[in-house]
Amino acid sequence: SAEVIYGKQLAEELREEMKEEVKGLKEHGIYPKLVVVIIGEDPASKSYVRGKQRASEKVGLDSELIELPETTSEQELLELIERLNQDETVHGILVQLPLPNQIADQKVIEAIDPSKDVDGFHPSNVGKMMTGQETFYPCTPYGILVMLKRAEISLEGKNVVIIGRSNLVGKPVGQLLLNENATVTHCHSRTKNLQEHTRKADILIVAAGKPGLISAEDISEGVVVIDVGVNRVEGKLTGDVQFESARQKASYITPVPKGVGPMTITMLLHNTIKAAKRIHNNQ
Ligand code: NAD
Repeated sequence: SAEVIYGKQLAEELREEMKEEVKGLKEHGIYPKLVVVIIGEDPASKSYVRGKQRASEKVGLDSELIELPETTSEQELLELIERLNQDETVHGILVQLPLPNQIADQKVIEAIDPSKDVDGFHPSNVGKMMTGQETFYPCTPYGILVMLKRAEISLEGKNVVIIGRSNLVGKPVGQLLLNENATVTHCHSRTKNLQEHTRKADILIVAAGKPGLISAEDISEGVVVIDVGVNRVEGKLTGDVQFESARQKASYITPVPKGVGPMTITMLLHNTIKAAKRIHNNQ
């Protein structure tokens, strides 16, 4: 049965390392600061934001939470972002998505200074990732990459099958693994004969948001399974993979919770520290 990759444990190790790094930066007068903006009262978004704040403070980052009402106009939000762009004490800006209907997500993403875009969603940073340049990578895909690397799972030439093609997870994780010389296939809701693809995977990344979508029948012996899905079923968090059945066949598998989730937040902290170092080096 598979070795379980606990992202939570790895995340804790990485955060210990970051804590030391932040201490060192502060000794040089650099105080990395993350500002998180949240609009409205969505309970899931609020809980994500709280997690991000708690993690930031634990590694010693300065963190500020700006909470705005559901009725905030696009103009007000854009003005706030402009202020944060100009503020030299702020290194990372994160606007929690999704936004209320009166605000266009894409406009907001593009308003953030790319050098403070710790989510890695700005088209300029997406383009850099796509052309293999050093930049901020989106946190969930980056967390998956780091997990695979730390588990010493080789990527070169491997058949990586990804279920999902969102801008948030599916597409960027495919791009990062392509940059590592994997052979990448994206499946999605219009894919025919999904099982034919998933059975060919050496590494299967499932980011569909469909509880239990993948079972032992869909995978081959020895596959590495990364379950990105976060679904609430009868009050319990569960992934897109039927964990107990899949782990009998897989060589490695990530659980939900305690898998990919904690790595996502860790990469946000990493990106914030990186932003602070870069901004400082350019001054
Ligand atoms: P999304 O809804 O934007 O995209 C889902 C993708 O899955 C789409 O491309 C769709 O075509 C595909 N899909 C849906 N049903 C399918 C099916 N039956 N067969 C094949 N493909 C199918 O979602 P997202 O933002 O990419 O997130 C995906 C999942 O990952 C969600 O459960 C989300 O909660 C989770 N997530 C987890 C983290 C984390 O840190 N752990 C971060 C972001 C998202």
